Amino acid sequence: MANSKFEYVKRFEQPDQLLPNTWIVVRLDGRGFTKLCAKYGFEKPNDRRALELMNMAAKAVMTDLPDITIGYGVSDEYSFVFHKTCSLFERRASKLVATTVSTFTAYYIHFWPTCFPDVPLSSPLPSFDGRAVCYPSVQNLRDYMSWRQVDCHINNLYNTTFWTLIQLGGMDAKEAEKALAGTLSADKNEIMFSRFNINYNNEPEIFKKGSVVFRDYELVEPGSHIVAEEADDLAEPVQQSKTQQETDKKRRAKARVLVDHLDIIKNDFWDRRPWLLS
Ligand code: ATP
Ligand code: ATP
Ligand code: MG
Ligand code: MG
Ligand code: MG
Ligand code: MG
Repeated sequence: MANSKFEYVKRFEQPDQLLPNTWIVVRLDGRGFTKLCAKYGFEKPNDRRALELMNMAAKAVMTDLPDITIGYGVSDEYSFVFHKTCSLFERRASKLVATTVSTFTAYYIHFWPTCFPDVPLSSPLPSFDGRAVCYPSVQNLRDYMSWRQVDCHINNLYNTTFWTLIQLGGMDAKEAEKALAGTLSADKNEIMFSRFNINYNNEPEIFKKGSVVFRDYELVEPGSHIVAEEADDLAEPVQQSKTQQETDKKRRAKARVLVDHLDIIKNDFWDRRPWLLS
């Protein structure tokens, strides 16, 4: 209530406004999913139902929060990128993180029965932690996204080989771990191919590349605009008028949210969708 003697407690709150004009990444991660996988019998190394559930929740988050320009998900984590001009909650970190994580969690629980119709949820329910990090340049942001996708690749190659040794090679976890100790990527590819006739390249894209969530907007033909290397040299993208920016923003917010399993390390993905980072 206004002006009560208790109101001074408000002054204990710490400001947590994020740096202006920076790309805000909110990354959430499933709490204790190693245990949760075992409890609900997730297929190893990749349970498709669980990945689809993550993607459905991410799509819903992006539909509810149009300030998010792109999301990237792998395993039990999702990164959401808020545009550098975002002013939602005055860019307060706790509000952005809490809203993103609780919206995601709510949809994860909501869609669970769709993805796991025969597996009822029970306490403790799935939950997620979250954090916000600011990236000042497009290069830093792209390096962040590349970092997550490289992580996806490295972990998936390891996990796929590890579980092949167990499921098809009859090893136990200790033996499989030992067999993989000190191996490089090429060795893991070789183990799978020579012993099990599995070509890692033929594994599903969703497992190898993770999931990118973005709005379906007109694609730009490669070469029809400034190339990425040149764009990197420009301190700022070409300025648009305020009304043009508003119109574009509305169109983008209305566009359908898509999930795909694409390479986000190379330039092509970004070159064809310059609006993502402008
Ligand atoms: P923390 O609470 O610290 O995050 P955690 O047990 O969730 O603990 P992570 O490092 O996040 O630890 O690991 C997530 C675990 O869940 C990994 O073992 C990963 O293989 C597993 N996992 C996540 N998604 C799937 C999936 N779709 N199919 C199979 N396993 C999955
Ligand atoms: P914000 O997103 O900024 O929090 P808000 O609309 O949620 O916006 P609050 O200040 O949190 O704003 O106010 C919550 C509103 O919900 C109040 O109007 C409050 O009276 C109403 N409300 C909350 N719980 C109940 C309830 N159990 N029964 C009736 N009204 C409720
Ligand atoms: Mg964690
Ligand atoms: Mg986790
Ligand atoms: Mg994780
Ligand atoms: Mg409220």
